[in-house]
Amino acid sequence: MNGSCQYAEDLLLQPIWDKLHSHQDMLASPFFPVLFSFSANLLACAPYLLLDTMGPRWPFFHRYKLKPSHSIRPDTVLRSLSKIYYNHALFIFPVTLLCRGLRLERQMLQAPSISQLLTDVIVCLLLFDLLFFLWHLLHHQAPLLYRWLHSLHHQHASTYSLSAQYASAWEILSLQLLAVSIPHLLSCHPLSEMTFFLLNVWLSVEDHCGYDLPWSAHNIIPLGILGGAPFHDLHHQKHRCNYAPYFTHLDKLFGTYRKPARGNSVAA
Ligand SMILES: [Zn+2]
Ligand SMILES: [Zn+2]
Repeated sequence: MNGSCQYAEDLLLQPIWDKLHSHQDMLASPFFPVLFSFSANLLACAPYLLLDTMGPRWPFFHRYKLKPSHSIRPDTVLRSLSKIYYNHALFIFPVTLLCRGLRLERQMLQAPSISQLLTDVIVCLLLFDLLFFLWHLLHHQAPLLYRWLHSLHHQHASTYSLSAQYASAWEILSLQLLAVSIPHLLSCHPLSEMTFFLLNVWLSVEDHCGYDLPWSAHNIIPLGILGGAPFHDLHHQKHRCNYAPYFTHLDKLFGTYRKPARGNSVAA
């Protein structure tokens, strides 16, 4: 890359970072992390909830539903929403308060370059995927851990977008702590940290959305690198396979990979 291209790449994210930096008071508020997490999750779920509401009335989208005959009942949505609210208010809020207290605010004026941001986000996603894989495997191998801490998330055998956050307080807290501590330990730029956090939320909602849409990340990124909704839906049905949240390489490496076929029957 020549000098002028490098310079342009370095400056591309600067206006976005300057804008965010100008709202420093809001970012420093103790309420920001919990509101950011709560709203990012609901916003990511909103398009899929709309598709669920419209159902067969929108045949263009409905044909991509993994289980076309499965409809979401309003009381299931209400129960999921109250669980997400409860976990955020009673557990995530106190922990993020503590983390912010321990963490020195970084007075960074320079935005990262695009290549730096991409590297940070990919490394964070790969590391999160590995640690989640180990966490998930352990919580399925140990019957008591499964029963007490992870089985709640498996109450939704047929997932929909809000299932991503429908889990025990321990599960939400430990995975949230992983997501927060990885970029912090790697000393990522706050903009990389926010991008990783948003991507993490989006991919997790895509995993549970119940739709195999052509523009989903796992269909855009080639070679089956990402598993997406069909891969994770199979985990909710069969339990003993597809433990990784996003990438497929760890399950392939450990022999726990099962390939979902169209319509979600297992391919031979
Ligand atoms: Zn799940
Ligand atoms: Zn599981």
